[in-house]
Amino acid sequence: ADEALRQSQKMEAVGQLTGGIAHDFNNLLTAIIGNLDMIRNRVEGNERLQRLADNALEAARRGAKVTSQLLAFSRSQRMQLATVDLDQLLDGMGALLRQSAGPAISVRISVGPDARYVMSDANQLELALLNLIVNARDAMPAGGSLSISTHRVVDLDLRELQRRPYVEIRVSDTGSGMPDEIRARAIEPFFTTKRVGHGTGLGLSQVYGVMRESGGTLFIDSAVAQGTTIRMVLPAAANPSVSGYIAHARSHPPTV
Ligand code: ADP
Repeated sequence: ADEALRQSQKMEAVGQLTGGIAHDFNNLLTAIIGNLDMIRNRVEGNERLQRLADNALEAARRGAKVTSQLLAFSRSQRMQLATVDLDQLLDGMGALLRQSAGPAISVRISVGPDARYVMSDANQLELALLNLIVNARDAMPAGGSLSISTHRVVDLDLRELQRRPYVEIRVSDTGSGMPDEIRARAIEPFFTTKRVGHGTGLGLSQVYGVMRESGGTLFIDSAVAQGTTIRMVLPAAANPSVSGYIAHARSHPPTV
């Protein structure tokens, strides 16, 4: 629990820092991209200069992508907790999740009995799921299967959590898996084994941050060459339509 606290404090500090830096860089990159675009248009006809401008534009756009991921990460510090309907959320995200996974990966999604409502932030949870899908896809370059399922947690051995019902969202892939020394560091902010420009090392930090802020936690089970299962544990919530509320029809547009 001490380690978990240290980790979440570290993430809060990193989140504030990266938010500020990412914001400044975003503005700088917007100016760079705008000016490069104008230069690109003025050198029409000069192939060599066009190619140089295109290279610079591509690098600047990649930079902008990284800063937007950093901004999303720092925003994960600000959460609005409410009842989230996982059936509705996963249904709304189904097409996007399958598209992100790509054609070589088969995707199965199922919501278990008594495992439909949790307390969390719907937008941040969507981002967390997307981060996990991207990781699963990267771990299965030759294809494989991905399953997302929700379960009532029956026997949770966790002192850091309270005695209350939890629901877990399991994201399992049949990919490369992680050796223990990588698994142990995977949620550290900025820890990545991916090539420059392909990973920020903030995906699992964001996922872990959302779990902690929701009063839940995260488990990573992995076996090299077999696959990885990420378990997102969240406090269960009551069915809002049963407890006298009017259930609002909410749509979930993709956040990325
Ligand atoms: P990023 O994806 O940008 O590298 P993450 O925090 O999401 O950042 O992941 C950190 C590292 O954990 C990855 O670089 C990878 O080595 C490992 N990892 C995460 N998810 C998986 C997975 N599903 N299968 C194998 N390795 C994974």
